[in-house]
Amino acid sequence: AARNAEQKEFLQAVDEVLESLEPVVEARPELEKNGLIERIVEPERVVMFRVPWVDDNGKVQVNRGYRVQFNSAIGPYKGGLRFHKSVNLSVIKFLGFEQVFKNSLTGLPMGGGKGGSDFDPHGKSDAEVMRFCQSFMTELYRHIGPDCDVPAGDIGVGGREIGYLFGQYKRITNSFVGVLTGKGIPYGGSLARTEATGYGLCYFADEMLKANGKSFDGAKVVISGSGNVAIYANQKATQLGGKVIAMSDSNGYIVDENGIDYKVMKEIKEVKRARIKTYLDYVPSAKYVEGSAGIWTVPCDIALPCATQNELPLEGAKALVANGCYAVAEGANMPSTPDAVAYLQANNVLFAPAKASNAGGVATSGLEMSQNSQRLAWTFDEVDGKLHGIMKNIYANAAAAAEAYGMKGNLVAGANIAGFTKVADAMLSQGIV
Ligand code: NDP
Repeated sequence: AARNAEQKEFLQAVDEVLESLEPVVEARPELEKNGLIERIVEPERVVMFRVPWVDDNGKVQVNRGYRVQFNSAIGPYKGGLRFHKSVNLSVIKFLGFEQVFKNSLTGLPMGGGKGGSDFDPHGKSDAEVMRFCQSFMTELYRHIGPDCDVPAGDIGVGGREIGYLFGQYKRITNSFVGVLTGKGIPYGGSLARTEATGYGLCYFADEMLKANGKSFDGAKVVISGSGNVAIYANQKATQLGGKVIAMSDSNGYIVDENGIDYKVMKEIKEVKRARIKTYLDYVPSAKYVEGSAGIWTVPCDIALPCATQNELPLEGAKALVANGCYAVAEGANMPSTPDAVAYLQANNVLFAPAKASNAGGVATSGLEMSQNSQRLAWTFDEVDGKLHGIMKNIYANAAAAAEAYGMKGNLVAGANIAGFTKVADAMLSQGIV
């Protein structure tokens, strides 16, 4: 901890995982002897770089770029790029660390990594975003490759940004390879990747609900955020019979007791890139409340935090419990604070942790890599079917690992243990590296 004293998000993520792993480390002394824990919390490589670009006024801007290559024991580094003004080394390391276990849980051969920049795409023109992406890739290209490190999107990095990044990689290296995922369909992207994290979240939540005699059918659902994960979580939750009554952005939240149509949200966020408040232009009977934190006070049966880290604090968890919410499944990465998770679990709320429940995105990225390697493209239903199977497996493995270590029903512990075991065994086999 002393070595990373300033990195609070990273330390929070590590603490949470190590706590769950205590019984495993106790039961397997070879892990300690081989320095497994000390090695697994240290990234294999961290790259930080200058990203200079010229804005539309001809002024030079400088941002900082990051790529944290955390662990390659079971496959090439894999994980998204985040462009957001809050990005710093701690945030990227926390995301990279979590990614190691999440990728392992998918059952696909992917190591863990994460990257990004403190560049804020809000209010930037397409041309500015393109120039930024080209400058970013002009450094990043030398550190990545289809058998080495395959980045993807994350907050602030969607289809547009991946396109610019891919174009620049191809131009510099003169090679057309699957070096990024989340690509457009005409140039090697996978069908169903856009939908995958939100769909996967609901497939996972559905397994958890069914194992406990509950379901989405007829349930009131609150989803925070209105980005990629939130929009498709809305679509799938609705298909499974739920009614999504609230969604948010970083300014505030809307409540529509008749159910929010994901297509309207897609129009507002993906086409117009507008604020969620403009939902009132489409549905005047809905309600808008300024300030996003209040969304947890909207009474619901199922809550799906799909916006950002630490967005569901203890007060939010208390409000959910007081209103009778019986399930929380995380779509964002680490959206619930540790005290919120503890409170929800102590009050018998079914809780699905991000690294298991939002693994559908990276799993489908893994399927995109397979398609690129084969130079084939699978149908939407084929990919969606594989995604569904993967999410069912993740649930089964996390539930089984929790039970094996005497923590039946604790999916936080189960996901950490199941994800860790595979990576740890691979590291043991590969010697002290
Ligand atoms: P997007 O950038 O598409 O959307 C993020 C959404 O969250 C936006 O609507 C944003 O609103 C909103 N938001 C940001 N901060 C807050 C806040 N404090 N309160 C309420 N809303 C907020 O990102 P994604 O949907 O792709 O990602 C969301 C989360 O899911 C992240 O944690 C990401 O790491 C995680 N994730 C994403 C995956 C994917 O495949 N996309 C895969 C696995 C995890 P605004 O427009 O105001 O900024």
